[in-house]
Amino acid sequence: MNQASQIPIPSHWPILNGLKDIQGQPLPAGTIYCIGRNYADHAKEMNAAIPSEPMVFIKPIGTLSIGDGSLSLPAESQDVHHEVEWVIAIGKGGKHISLDQAWDHVAGWAVGIDFTARDLQAKAKQAGKPWTLAKGFDGFAPLSPFAAKPSTFSCEDMANYQLQFQVNGVTRQSEKLSQMLFSASELIHYLSSVFTLQPGDLIFTGTPSGVSQVVLGDRCLAELKDPNGLTTHRLEIIIE
Ligand code: ZN
Repeated sequence: MNQASQIPIPSHWPILNGLKDIQGQPLPAGTIYCIGRNYADHAKEMNAAIPSEPMVFIKPIGTLSIGDGSLSLPAESQDVHHEVEWVIAIGKGGKHISLDQAWDHVAGWAVGIDFTARDLQAKAKQAGKPWTLAKGFDGFAPLSPFAAKPSTFSCEDMANYQLQFQVNGVTRQSEKLSQMLFSASELIHYLSSVFTLQPGDLIFTGTPSGVSQVVLGDRCLAELKDPNGLTTHRLEIIIE
């Protein structure tokens, strides 16, 4: 892990294209919050208990990319998994945000992949260590372009939206957002009880079941579909 990186370092956090802050200015990305085990079927496939409150971890900013691209598999892991997730961007920050106000703090959303070095995560779990290494490699949080939250939408209107994830044209994950154990509003309410949320903060809202390994040459397609089955967000990542 000590080799000097040849990758150019961006001069600022990525801009969440498609979104504006409340002053109408471009919105740079902030903290990347992630929620573990937010779908019962995924908790089950991981042989993990269903959490009684949201399980939170954070990815470093270097994981983030926006738009189609590629992921270089890290040499440190032999078992990188995909986790397709609905990713919310915060437009208006705050602390102790009430449940009924929470949805007003959403600027928009994207579909993303929470890539995970499952072997390193299993080791960390066993040793009672944090997941940061397993979740934090460069490029481990690619996102589709964002779309602003339509003013007519409520949190409940997202229930029949569907996440879908294909590898080389074969569907591996497919689930409605209604299956989330904690809704977007509940997650914002909960996170803001601990952290001061900032404009540009992102929330990976958890993955449904069907996670599995990606290997060299795989073409990954993550999609968010509306209740009519039309794709609203799309992200293609080649594994290299
Ligand atoms: Zn995840």
